[in-house]
Amino acid sequence: MIMWPRLRLERLSFVLMLGPVLAMPWLSSPVWRGAVACLLVLSAGQAWRRWQDLQAHERVQREALAVVEEGVVVTDADYRILDVNAAMTRASGYTLEEVRGWHATRLSAPRHDAAFFERLLQSARSVGRWEGEFWHRRKSGGVYPAWLKVQPRLGSRGELQGYVCVLSPISSQTAGARDLRRIGFEDALTGLPNRRRLHELLGSRLSRLTQGECLDLALVDIDGFRAINEGLGSETSDRLLVLIGQHLNEFVPNGVVGRSGGNQFMLLRSGGGEDHDDWIQRLQAWMATPFALDGRSMRLGATIGSCQAPTDGMRVSTLRQCLETALFSAKRNGRNHALRYSPGLGFHGATSMRMVNDLRSALAIGGQLELHFQPQYRLANDALTGLEVLLRWRHPHEGLILPADFIPMAETHGLMASMGNWVIDQTLAQMACWRDRGQLRVPVWVNVSPVQLFQGKLEAALQAGLARHRLEARYLGLELTESTLLDERAGDVVPRLEALRERGHPTALDDFGTGYSSLGYLTRLPLDKLKLDRTFVESLPEDRSNIAIVNAVLAMAEGLSLKVVAEGVETLAQRDFLRAAGCGEAQGYWYSPPRMASEI
Ligand code: C2E
Ligand code: CA
Ligand code: CA
Repeated sequence: MIMWPRLRLERLSFVLMLGPVLAMPWLSSPVWRGAVACLLVLSAGQAWRRWQDLQAHERVQREALAVVEEGVVVTDADYRILDVNAAMTRASGYTLEEVRGWHATRLSAPRHDAAFFERLLQSARSVGRWEGEFWHRRKSGGVYPAWLKVQPRLGSRGELQGYVCVLSPISSQTAGARDLRRIGFEDALTGLPNRRRLHELLGSRLSRLTQGECLDLALVDIDGFRAINEGLGSETSDRLLVLIGQHLNEFVPNGVVGRSGGNQFMLLRSGGGEDHDDWIQRLQAWMATPFALDGRSMRLGATIGSCQAPTDGMRVSTLRQCLETALFSAKRNGRNHALRYSPGLGFHGATSMRMVNDLRSALAIGGQLELHFQPQYRLANDALTGLEVLLRWRHPHEGLILPADFIPMAETHGLMASMGNWVIDQTLAQMACWRDRGQLRVPVWVNVSPVQLFQGKLEAALQAGLARHRLEARYLGLELTESTLLDERAGDVVPRLEALRERGHPTALDDFGTGYSSLGYLTRLPLDKLKLDRTFVESLPEDRSNIAIVNAVLAMAEGLSLKVVAEGVETLAQRDFLRAAGCGEAQGYWYSPPRMASEI
């Protein structure tokens, strides 16, 4: 540890003690010998006390380092690790034995390059301190943000002996609210805009689009990334993802590149003179050039879905849908090629008027629509906390149709308002039935479509239904997505949601993380719960960036006193991860798929 000045004092006492010993044989007078012996005893006593002091001091330092909550790393002048404390081991998963002698940069996330550390150490040396956000790498593979302070250790003559690095968890004390918000908006691994930020950027570019201008969008999916991950290991493939991000950034110097999940990147550029199809062709060629990684040259395959605004739409959600449809169709036709969106590709094109008519008569006649219920559980003790209502259509010829295949159709063809009211009424009827049997113990949550907010007289339907079935509002929860809350057709939803909550309805924000509203906006919303979208849960506990997002969301939700329900929990490992991360509730196939009321 850092105690050179004290050691020098030690040496001095040693010399004091050695001097008389060496002088002893030359002294003839017993008086002198006695005096020297006394001196010897005194010096020895002093040295012993100093040595004990030193030991005690060192012990206190060790104990102090062991109890502080900050992670501490002590390095030598070459930034090689000499010591780490217990908090550091807890946070990173690495013991001192494992990392002693490592270059401390090996504990960092791949997003920080050599130039970053050069700047950091340079400023620590010249200013005496460096402080800032820093992304760390865990032994298990995750990356997480921390607040890093680096201070040089100087010798008595001012010479550099090493560095002390202190890492604290990012909190509102260490980072400003702006930093926290930014972290929620960037991809943890690459530092690129994340899906939410991409949507925000897309929204702002769309709003500034002038007559005759267009926006080109592409969704790039790296082929066979799972195999790359398995072949190279997660640390190397993480670095590869960072490289791919940088490579794509060079392709659109005035555009935007973000990581929209796993091995998917989204590109956005304001259309220049060049044709969309030429742009995509160039992008394909760009992706086909080999990458240099660890002295290896790698060729990657990429599948690309693309679209253009305003041709394919002017709303973020529509364009996103177009991109996904195009990418999905491109993947179906084999990998490593590009496909531009066209209306014939996806659901919209496949929708025939026959299905719309069938749905209309299903609503009028009844007997084909049914409600399924999916239970939600408290992670700490696996106790039932709620049920989500999910609609199904049992078509006489097509079989069971899932909501994703008919709700958009109902919305565009004016059927959603009455279908939504039907769901509310049937749900309340089922709840009344459970109540009569003494089985209604937890709230039942219904999904609310934006159409219900501006066409369906939602409040009236809820009030009438509750009265008819003699049920309390606190048993009927409402799930709304960000896009529902932001749907301008419904006006300002906040006061209406406030009123519904005052009446007793619990409220939840569905698919949280896939939208693009700011945290500032969320704090204004009258909400009880956030439902963490399945896309984040699906890659747990492996995906490092999603781990960071989940942790950030949980910390933020706690700050806003919101409960969090994780959606789509399919494995024990996911459940265990979420439980350990402090997530409150979960729902998913691991617990139970949606079931008919009779099976609940
Ligand atoms: P959602 O609200 O996000 O509902 C959760 C969806 O995830 C459901 O799909 C559910 O079956 C599925 N799910 C649950 N656990 C798992 C899991 O572990 N793994 C996977 N892969 N999926 C899981 P479903 O029933 O197909 O519903 C899709 C969407 O349709 C719902 O998404 C919701 O937005 C909408 N929806 C369903 N019923 C209604 C309704 O009555 N009204 C409105 N407006 N929308 C509805
Ligand atoms: Ca839902
Ligand atoms: Ca959801």
